[in-house]
Amino acid sequence: MLLTAERLLHYQRCHRRTFLDVYGDRTLKTPPSDFQLKLLQERLAHQQFILAEQVCQGATPHYQPNYPKGDWKAGAQATKALMQQGVERIHKGVLLTTGEAIGSGRAREQGEKVTLISHPDLLIKQPGKSDFGDWLYVPTDIHLGKRAKQEYQIVAAYHTQLLASVQGAWPEKAWLNLRGKKGEYEVDLWRWLPEMQITLEKCMQMLLEQQEPEVFISRQQCSVCPWLTPCYAIAKSQQHLSLLPGVTPSRYQHLQTLRLTTLESLADANPVYLEPELETEVAQHLVQQAQSVLENRVILTPSESFTVASGLPTAPIELYFDIEAEPSLNLDYLLGVLVVDRQANTETFYPLVAEKPADEEAIWLQFLDLVSAYPDAPIFHYSPYEADTVKRLAKLYPTPAEQVKPLLSRFVDLHKQVTDAVTLPLEGYSLKMIANWLGFKWRDPQANGSQSICWYDKWLETGDRTLLNAILRYNEDDCKATHRLKDWLVDFLQCAYQKNI
Ligand code: SF4
Repeated sequence: MLLTAERLLHYQRCHRRTFLDVYGDRTLKTPPSDFQLKLLQERLAHQQFILAEQVCQGATPHYQPNYPKGDWKAGAQATKALMQQGVERIHKGVLLTTGEAIGSGRAREQGEKVTLISHPDLLIKQPGKSDFGDWLYVPTDIHLGKRAKQEYQIVAAYHTQLLASVQGAWPEKAWLNLRGKKGEYEVDLWRWLPEMQITLEKCMQMLLEQQEPEVFISRQQCSVCPWLTPCYAIAKSQQHLSLLPGVTPSRYQHLQTLRLTTLESLADANPVYLEPELETEVAQHLVQQAQSVLENRVILTPSESFTVASGLPTAPIELYFDIEAEPSLNLDYLLGVLVVDRQANTETFYPLVAEKPADEEAIWLQFLDLVSAYPDAPIFHYSPYEADTVKRLAKLYPTPAEQVKPLLSRFVDLHKQVTDAVTLPLEGYSLKMIANWLGFKWRDPQANGSQSICWYDKWLETGDRTLLNAILRYNEDDCKATHRLKDWLVDFLQCAYQKNI
């Protein structure tokens, strides 16, 4: 059995992913999206940048082991040869050890062999004693992110364990090279080595004993996982509770201890039964969400819906606002505004687009002109991002507070209004999910925020205007979907209150 650092990393995020990587039917995997490929390229480019920068700052250029792609054994031999030579820095070296399964399970009893592999981004020579002589190597991983996440530290500890076996000496340090102020971050090996060994043992046991972990759909993990299609199909067929908004892994664990693992049982439960581990409001929300999905109906949140209903403005002219951004450029390149004139019965879309990054200030000024032409119009948007961006742009391109404050007071976040007022029979509260449920159709069903980032990058690279037009169409549809949602919410709440009067 073979366990790589990548599999150990995935195991920490989702046990099932590592299981499927080893035993799953590869024909069911989805190829990476354009956005995932872009992130991968950015990571590689960032690594090359850091390596080049270190050389500029006086580090010696790195060596890279030469071996046929995928031939780990050859990679490990080539890496060991470089270590024996005592080269200063090795990029993408391969560390490999083979031994018996650890732990106390059946695998160990049967003496199964396990091959552990890791490939730190950098191995750096240090003074010390090892099998090679008066030197040893310490590992560094280069990450795009700014945070020293637990899973990165566990993988760094895994590198040190393999290094200890390859060079016959424990490295005393392991490093993460992080973006931003943190720079080189020293991993606390006293803390993370024991954690890593426990994680490694559990992971190996799962694999050796072929214990397939239960499916759990978590938006953050699953949306970037190649196994989403088969996992989602299983979750759907089981009506798995992870498909309910609000059911996180830790809350699910609690529901399991209470034996509330089916939609019916949760819908029937008294919320008090879920307390005190879950707060009253969370418990009520989960039960209500289960009822909504089970009965396929919208449920009013009595305590909030009246406040929302009375606070939702309907004006002769309303603005619907949506932004497209390119986070890696720290750029908000499209400020889309749909002007809805209810009296004239017209809708006009204004796509204020920065055709090149330097145009961001120009579109900000155009946006200020446009919204000030409708000083009484409420500005609807879906998520806090739009208001946060207005604050960011106002700061970046000094804008008087007396202009920004009244502008922000016109903003209405429909995501908050919807989630406060009602529970919907859906798997999530994204604009796309709700608007699709209301019957709204995006002209390009494949378009999404991540895809539009890729389109914009390609537009900058190629000048292909069809890409820019695709983004504008997507952004306009987002504004129209927000409009559809607002009208539905107003009608729904009015109807509900008329029935009650
Ligand atoms: S789709 Fe989700 S549950 Fe399935 S393996 Fe991937 S992360 Fe795990």
